[in-house]
Amino acid sequence: MARLIIMGPPGSGKGTQAEHIARHFGIPAISTGELFRTHVRNKTELGSEAIGYMDSGEFVPDHVTTAMLRGRLEEADAADGFLLDGYPRTVIQIGALDEMLADRQQTLEVVLELTAPDEELLARMLRRAQEQGRTDDTEPVIQRRLELYRDETQPVLTAYSQRGILLSVDGSGQRETITKDAIAALEGALAR
Ligand code: ADP
Repeated sequence: MARLIIMGPPGSGKGTQAEHIARHFGIPAISTGELFRTHVRNKTELGSEAIGYMDSGEFVPDHVTTAMLRGRLEEADAADGFLLDGYPRTVIQIGALDEMLADRQQTLEVVLELTAPDEELLARMLRRAQEQGRTDDTEPVIQRRLELYRDETQPVLTAYSQRGILLSVDGSGQRETITKDAIAALEGALAR
């Protein structure tokens, strides 16, 4: 079973693509953003710790995020394979994930990057704000999330590229076409 990561700037559609890709490979899509939003909805202690960071577009502190992810990966459905969405977002988190996987004698197979021009990202997020009412989809918060992506998350892509496991797919255009391209690229990489 595949152990994959999907990465892409806010608004790149990675959450939607993650669902479709994970279904194709028969693995769970694990989104740290979704896990946080579920905690917030259920008014858990973790949710109340996270909400202030999320609503201002900042990263939730590593110890909180990493502990939450570790717990999720221990669930039975993630024993052999998973598609991570939203983690790692910092170079520190790469190390934390490496440790989690080493404990399980597992390695990462492929990191898929979805690319899209900034104008398209902003437009998609503003549309999503109207459709879904995510409280972090306001223009100043979106700008902050894009900035953090450039400053903190691009180096994660560089690190995976140096490991030789990074694949990039054009994330602009039709949802179905992007899903097909992404699955084809992943299958090619997994077969090697
Ligand atoms: P997006 O990629 O559109 O910004 P996500 O749904 O992936 O949205 O994440 C929403 C928010 O959840 C982030 O802005 C951040 O506050 C928090 N979050 C998610 N993943 C992480 C992570 N790996 N580290 C720190 N914070 C995170």
